[in-house]
Amino acid sequence: MRQLKLFIENKWVDAEGGATFDSVNPATGEKVAVLAKASAGDVDKAVKVAKKAFDSGVWSRMDPDKRANLMLKAADIMRRRFEELAEAEARDAGKPIREARLVDIPYSIRAMEYFANMAREIKGEVIPLPGDQAFDWVSFEPYGVVAAITPWNFPLHLATRAICPAIATGNTVVAKASSLAPVTPMLLGEIFLEAGFPPGVVNILSGPGGTTGDALAGHEDVRMITFTGSVQIGRRVMEQAAQSPIIKKVLLELGGKGPFIAEADCDLDAAVNSLIPGFCLVEGQVCCASTRLYLHNDIYDQFMENLVRKVSSLRMGDIMDPETQIGSMIGQKELQSVDAYVKAAVDAGAKLVYGGEQVTTPPCDQGSFYQPTILEVESNDLACVREEIFGPVLTVMRYHSLDEAIALANDTEYGLGATVWSSNPRTLFRAAKEIDAGMVWLNTNVMSKIEAPYGGNKNSGLGREDGTIGLKEYVKAKNNVLYLGKPEDDNFYGF
Ligand code: NAP
Repeated sequence: MRQLKLFIENKWVDAEGGATFDSVNPATGEKVAVLAKASAGDVDKAVKVAKKAFDSGVWSRMDPDKRANLMLKAADIMRRRFEELAEAEARDAGKPIREARLVDIPYSIRAMEYFANMAREIKGEVIPLPGDQAFDWVSFEPYGVVAAITPWNFPLHLATRAICPAIATGNTVVAKASSLAPVTPMLLGEIFLEAGFPPGVVNILSGPGGTTGDALAGHEDVRMITFTGSVQIGRRVMEQAAQSPIIKKVLLELGGKGPFIAEADCDLDAAVNSLIPGFCLVEGQVCCASTRLYLHNDIYDQFMENLVRKVSSLRMGDIMDPETQIGSMIGQKELQSVDAYVKAAVDAGAKLVYGGEQVTTPPCDQGSFYQPTILEVESNDLACVREEIFGPVLTVMRYHSLDEAIALANDTEYGLGATVWSSNPRTLFRAAKEIDAGMVWLNTNVMSKIEAPYGGNKNSGLGREDGTIGLKEYVKAKNNVLYLGKPEDDNFYGF
């Protein structure tokens, strides 16, 4: 079992008073690690060393090529430790090892590599001015200390998605992953240390959100917060940023309630196949999950028959078995919340088509396994359609026209991912234009490359991660004007 301390200024240190907490494999209940529990005092130490490192220029003024090479070295170390990271991720988050190998670890390595190379591409702009005596150029500068606060559903991927663009652009970082699955983000400390990063550039803390996270978001020397998590905590982070003596930049990646529209002319088999991972990946604990199916009346029965048949053949169980497709939810509290949504939906008139129960037969009896669940509903009004359940629950509703489907899709406080299946390019084009979401998948689903911006509208967030658009979130633009002529000729305002 691992013992992990706080990673501050390239040293592994105990939390104040030696406080610790355990991380548990939610699929088996076994303890996987003992971690240091950072206090507000530990947060203060970490932010101070990150500020010292930033102010020294050791990182922010380093040749971007050298920054890139250090990050590429970190990516190589991650690649060498691939299997260890995948196993740690599966055990800490209760997800199937095949998901960790296919998604979590490759995406994390890709983030390190992609943003390493982007470090060389942070270029300015020249603003044309008349004559040859005045010059105007725009440069991009790092904010300073960035707090990276991330959740447990893709622990390493979401930590690297936030840390890598921050350091590529010359910021220094204090990161805090969720205390529910903190192991792989903490292991990044070993990776940065071995790669040869200067002390204080990346500092990684473990500890509960309400204390460690809150102290970090509120620290006056943090200049930017990149937060991935729930709307509720996102609002709290924004309040902290607004109340800070110097207002902080905030980047928010929050929840979702993804619509999935299947038109009558869609490739039905392919649409069903793309919907299943859309609501079952990570036991449905995915921000951009497809959780609201809007199904055209003409294909309703056939689609549902196909969907239920395929869902019933999914393999749930031992997360370390490479054949397992569905693992455990993150914990009993979260499972009980999902179950309460399902029971309340049925009480309110929804029809339970499939699932709706915790799985308690071996090998699922020690964990928090919940059946993929399908609920038929007749309107968008029920809580199971309106609220993010964050579990493997799909609501299904019948519609008769594309106008109606688009209106239903947009009738939500969220706007992260949306999916439309049709064989008519005009339908797809129109839906892409009219659906209010940060990402629209057309005849595919939940597909996202690191080169593309990721993020949501409305309560799904503020700003974008990933791609060149995401990278720009981590820098401030500065306009520089230089005048070389005689002062008396500088009559720009006509006075
Ligand atoms: P959460 O409860 O909001 O927690 C997110 C992070 O914030 C965790 O590290 C948490 O620490 C920390 N935290 C909690 N209270 C805090 C506070 N007062 N101040 C600062 N930090 C605090 O969310 P979650 O349950 O981990 O994750 C699920 C949510 O994340 C869902 O809504 C999901 O849709 C969203 N999500 C969004 C994206 C996206 O890209 N848009 C991606 C993944 C997940 P502890 O866990 O240690 O308490």
